[in-house]
Amino acid sequence: MAKRQPPPAPDAAARAVDASEHGDDGLVDRTLRPRTFDDYVGQTKHKDNLRVFVEAAKRRGEPLDHVLLSGPPGLGKTTLAHILAHEMGTQLVSTSGPVIEHKGALAALLTTKLQKNDILFVDEIHRLNPVVEESLYPALDESVFDVMTGEGAFASAVRITLQPFTLVGATTRTGLLTAPLLSRFGHVVRLDFYPPEDLAQIVLRSAKLLGVAIEQEAAHEIARRSRGTPRVANRLLRRVRDFAEVLGTGRIDLARVRHACERLEVDVAGLDDMDRRYLSVVIDHYDGGPVGVDALAAALAEPRDTLEDVVEPFLLQQGYVGRTPRGRVANRKAYEALGKSPPAGGGGRPPQADLFDEE
Ligand code: ADP
Repeated sequence: MAKRQPPPAPDAAARAVDASEHGDDGLVDRTLRPRTFDDYVGQTKHKDNLRVFVEAAKRRGEPLDHVLLSGPPGLGKTTLAHILAHEMGTQLVSTSGPVIEHKGALAALLTTKLQKNDILFVDEIHRLNPVVEESLYPALDESVFDVMTGEGAFASAVRITLQPFTLVGATTRTGLLTAPLLSRFGHVVRLDFYPPEDLAQIVLRSAKLLGVAIEQEAAHEIARRSRGTPRVANRLLRRVRDFAEVLGTGRIDLARVRHACERLEVDVAGLDDMDRRYLSVVIDHYDGGPVGVDALAAALAEPRDTLEDVVEPFLLQQGYVGRTPRGRVANRKAYEALGKSPPAGGGGRPPQADLFDEE
């Protein structure tokens, strides 16, 4: 499958509940980022397994097996990579798939940056250049890297031995990884959206770190409206804080959260204008679907990748829309969210396999 490069969503910066990183998120993410497993809220099953693998690797004095972290943006993949390095007591060297442009750049990274058992974190690993990806395989399998020296008749291969290291890859969609790369990960961790209780805990923790006074029920209200995503919860908290500081005493209570969310056009379920536009196109323009994602992208003037990576995962997980071989369909919940009555039969059509499979 061709590797696609999503341009930024035109109105991404305007969305309070967009999970992708923008504006000052990077800086704030770093401030609020948990450093240890104990600070990392939720995802208990994955956390407990990773704790065991880290402990086992440490006892053997070996690097951790390669780890793939997958899930929609803002769920804590980068955070987990940093925690793994911290818990292993090693360094984390961070890069991303598109940044490693050629084999030479990878060679420099592997030979000069990594110490024994360090973690190489590659964000957006599904966007690695195929030549770079192939030259990474021997490094992952046997800690060696093959370089060519000389040219023409004088060309010869030289094998460099590397320090053993762990690759931690992050991706929004495992399906875009090639089979040979996928098979090299010993652990594949698929992060799920967070339940509101966990997000409320994250909001309370972040409020404490930011020195913001917030009431319990206000934290729960922010959590409910955060699309199951810690980055969104943290951003909503900061936006609500702005309203509280400028229009109130600075203290965040339930009424303040409701008022701020109304101003930001984030509804009780965390759906914002973009989500509602998406649902409205499926329902009003395409009669509830099925509609292919390319048609939706054109109608919304959004890149397909933004829809698939940022907008759809939450709508699918929450059951607003369904995915069928012929495209997306609106479910009853989508009609209700827009205040419309579902068609007889409840909205959404049964999946039907046919020749036009677009997945
Ligand atoms: P991703 O790499 O998946 O896009 P990040 O790891 O950058 O997401 O997380 C975004 C922000 O959300 C981080 O700054 C961190 O503060 C917060 N966060 C993510 N996961 C958790 C968690 N489990 N507990 C507490 N905060 C979290």
